[in-house]
Amino acid sequence: MLSASTVSSRATRAALSIDVEDWFHTENLKSAISRDEWASCEFRVERNTMRMLEILDARDSRATFFVLGWVAEQCPRLVRAIAAAGHEVASHGYGHDLIYSLSPSEFRADILRSKQHLEDLTGRQIHGYRAPCFSITEWAIPILREAGFTYDSSVFPTLAHDRYGRLDGVEAGKPVVLLPCGLYEVCISCVRLGKRGIPWGGGGYFRLIPYALWRQGIRVILRSGSPYVFYTHPWEIDPDQPRIHGIKNSNAFRQHVNLSRCESRFTALVRDFSSVPLYDLIEDQRLRPTFNNHESWMCQ
Ligand SMILES: [Zn+2]
Repeated sequence: MLSASTVSSRATRAALSIDVEDWFHTENLKSAISRDEWASCEFRVERNTMRMLEILDARDSRATFFVLGWVAEQCPRLVRAIAAAGHEVASHGYGHDLIYSLSPSEFRADILRSKQHLEDLTGRQIHGYRAPCFSITEWAIPILREAGFTYDSSVFPTLAHDRYGRLDGVEAGKPVVLLPCGLYEVCISCVRLGKRGIPWGGGGYFRLIPYALWRQGIRVILRSGSPYVFYTHPWEIDPDQPRIHGIKNSNAFRQHVNLSRCESRFTALVRDFSSVPLYDLIEDQRLRPTFNNHESWMCQ
């Protein structure tokens, strides 16, 4: 087993992140649950997120929580609890719309509404942003920079998913990239296969692949000298979430596969690997002598 001390050096860090949204916000259920119906859905995100905070606290691990603005408005005490526990609060936007479904002005309004509300709640600057379903597009990057974000974490450099967006020059094997406009990009981890990678950063893949094999993959990534970047959602540790009928089988599979196994796997991940927030990862990379301004940086 890979011990926490083995992976806690500055050069080989694990960074865990949690996208704080509820079960009914997902793209999988969008065809069945409209925005107008969100307020009448069973609200489960607070309890599930508090459980994740307990798991992290038990190992003295810290993570980044990308909070959806709509959730922050409904549950401000949850945002304050995340910040009070020493974690990084970041933005998952406000309304969970795919970026490429919005106009640039609609996107700007969405991120500013979320960022301002989170800063008011925490009293801290919000540095990070993650797009719903990793739907990042090139035109969104300068808007994020203008809005005052330090980094984006919305690229999952794999070909394995139809909804994921792309950025020029960002690929598997370059986990932290300084983009020309000055915004940092922090990629979700993959096991490298050419310029793309096998998804090894969380979500449904984490629920599908046996944990012992998953841990081996993390070990391969860390041994390469690259940090490991993971994501999950509070609803993924909630096997009792309501089941919605009438959605496509592929979406039902993505939403529900192996939910009952996720909490124990997340607990094992937190046990086996020490974790820092994503912003700390950027600070580490800034200190590296090989990280030059306006150059892509690749872990060796
Ligand atoms: Zn999301």
